[in-house]
Amino acid sequence: MASIIFTDPFSAAAVHRLSFTRFSNGLVSLRRFVGPLHVFSHTPTLPRALSLHAPRSSRFITASMAAEPSAKVIDGKSVAKQIREEISAEVTKLKEAIGVVPGLAVILVGDRKDSATYVRNKKKACESVGIKSFEVNLPNEASEQEVLKYISDFNGDPSVHGILVQLPLPSHMNEQNILNAVTIEKDVDGFHPLNIGLLAMRGREPMFVPCTPKGCIELLHRYGVDIKGKRAVVIGRSNIVGMPAALLLQREDATVTIVHSRTKNPEEITRQADIIISAVGQPNMVRGSWIKPGAVIIDVGINPVEDANSPRGYRLVGDVCYDEACKIAAAVTPVPGGVGPMTIAMLLSNTVSSAKRAYNFN
Ligand code: NAP
Repeated sequence: MASIIFTDPFSAAAVHRLSFTRFSNGLVSLRRFVGPLHVFSHTPTLPRALSLHAPRSSRFITASMAAEPSAKVIDGKSVAKQIREEISAEVTKLKEAIGVVPGLAVILVGDRKDSATYVRNKKKACESVGIKSFEVNLPNEASEQEVLKYISDFNGDPSVHGILVQLPLPSHMNEQNILNAVTIEKDVDGFHPLNIGLLAMRGREPMFVPCTPKGCIELLHRYGVDIKGKRAVVIGRSNIVGMPAALLLQREDATVTIVHSRTKNPEEITRQADIIISAVGQPNMVRGSWIKPGAVIIDVGINPVEDANSPRGYRLVGDVCYDEACKIAAAVTPVPGGVGPMTIAMLLSNTVSSAKRAYNFN
């Protein structure tokens, strides 16, 4: 006798293990029946999911085993490539029509290798679509005043349409002072409190939406995922990902719950979600048992884990246990190759929108 795990639609939170007998003709007989069941198997040789319907009066149900479904991979890499091509066409149009080349200024302070890599990638991405990039590299000991002076210059420079200060900043600098100094019209990262405030208000439009959460929603749109009226759970509430992602989902008429480090029963809450956006930074935290069958999962987490087989000695994984999610979810983003490439694509998109807005160009 084998067993399967199933969710009970009459008790949203209930997940049960149920014994069953499998006959040679491919039929199964369940030992107990509670109504329509969404069943997914934790036994590798069995189908991963099937829906069963039988009259409530029945003591047993039987169902044929269907072919194994597995989640659709939400391919952020290819969507981002397509978006870059669209942006490149817009940049050409802007240049030909009014002679304007969008410009993005990036300020990097200190010598963090990861930050330097991000900045290099942003510069490369700008070049690939025809956006002009301006780069300032300051030493770790630079003063806050120096950074503020560069921001002020870029604020007043008409060839710069977006300003980005690479985070984190050295500890002697006040991040809030610096982010607040970027004019809201060039705040392509969308972190200015005014932009976040506008994002949170009904009937108001922010000038820019933070790039990573914007990329998450763009993936849902491009994969035709309905958001309106759906139950969404965002895991993580950071200013740069979780909180704006929750605001965006709410603007799209999802019913949103935020799970954070103090949440009781995160597994039970997450299992009710049609859409999960996870931005935590904990490798493989979201297990199969956290996922409602058929849910759509956007995994923002990027977590290095030791891997002796990798030349670098580590590999990157998400917050979501990908193998388990693939067996239960309808669609899931991989890590890497999911949300990551979308973040830069959205930065380019925000920069071009800014240039268009500056010249009232539609
Ligand atoms: P963060 O500022 O550290 O925020 C993490 C959030 O997760 C916090 O709200 C925290 O809750 C919550 N959290 C921590 N442990 C938890 C737990 N056990 N259960 C539930 N919630 C928990 O991180 P972040 O900047 O948002 O980044 C999150 C992840 O996304 C990281 O892996 C990061 O590398 C990745 N990321 C990826 C991209 C991309 O482009 N793909 C961009 C940005 C970030 P509290 O608020 O209660 O502390």
